[in-house]
Amino acid sequence: MQQLIVQKFGGTSVGSGERIAAVAGIIKKESEVNSVVVVVSAMAGETDRLIELSKQFGDNQNKREFDALISTGEKVSASLLAMALNSLGLKAKSYTAAQVSLKTTSNFSKAMILDIDKAKMEEILADDSIPIITGFQGITETGEVTTLGRGGSDTTAVAIAASIKANRCDIYTDVDGVYTTDPRIVPNAKKLDAISMEGMLELAGQGAKVIQIRAVEFANKFKVPVRVLSSFSPGTGLSLIHI
Ligand code: ADP
Ligand code: ASP
Ligand code: MG
Repeated sequence: MQQLIVQKFGGTSVGSGERIAAVAGIIKKESEVNSVVVVVSAMAGETDRLIELSKQFGDNQNKREFDALISTGEKVSASLLAMALNSLGLKAKSYTAAQVSLKTTSNFSKAMILDIDKAKMEEILADDSIPIITGFQGITETGEVTTLGRGGSDTTAVAIAASIKANRCDIYTDVDGVYTTDPRIVPNAKKLDAISMEGMLELAGQGAKVIQIRAVEFANKFKVPVRVLSSFSPGTGLSLIHI
């Protein structure tokens, strides 16, 4: 039976035109079997670049303008990815947090997700285009743009998966799963085929940025199974974060 899957692609996964094309291929394959909703991060380095740009006018920028600026990278990658899917003959539409009414608290740069408009999501799911939603950003009750903290696209993806009762949330990144410790720092770190939510909360709490801790908290609270897998070598392995 067809499942509903949220696929999230991180910065390095959409870091160039070539990478976006590869990601479009992964989405195409999944969409031939299942119904998919996609969440994207900004292209690798883009959020850092935007933060640097803001520093031209001082280190303590107006918080509203800072979030308005640093949230823009996700809009670029979402639109480019929709175009890449179109070029493969698939219908796709990009959506911002405002367009899906993803509401957050008003503490800029560390906002917490409060609510996602279910009626809007149902409307989007009923449309015959693949939705590509910007990660990392939200809007306040009064419509101000907020961001969720660095690495926040993971949390967007799991929150959307919870809101649409997806069967699974797949976090595509540049490593093929969750390791005992950062495999880029400790080369003999071991990949975990499966890890419990509690185990993952502990790892994320120790700073394993492979998945933002708030995303694991959401997954645990709303019982969303999460997989971590590589967009660079699809099919080579993964880690399941189980309930
Ligand atoms: P993305 O841009 O896809 O969100 P991130 O850079 O945020 O990717 O997270 C992936 C990185 O997390 C990996 O490249 C790896 O260096 C790092 N990492 C830290 N701890 C772990 C861990 N325990 N298991 C796997 N990756 C880890
Ligand atoms: N683009 C944002 C960041 O660099 C969000 C994310 O990558 O998840 O932190
Ligand atoms: Mg990340």
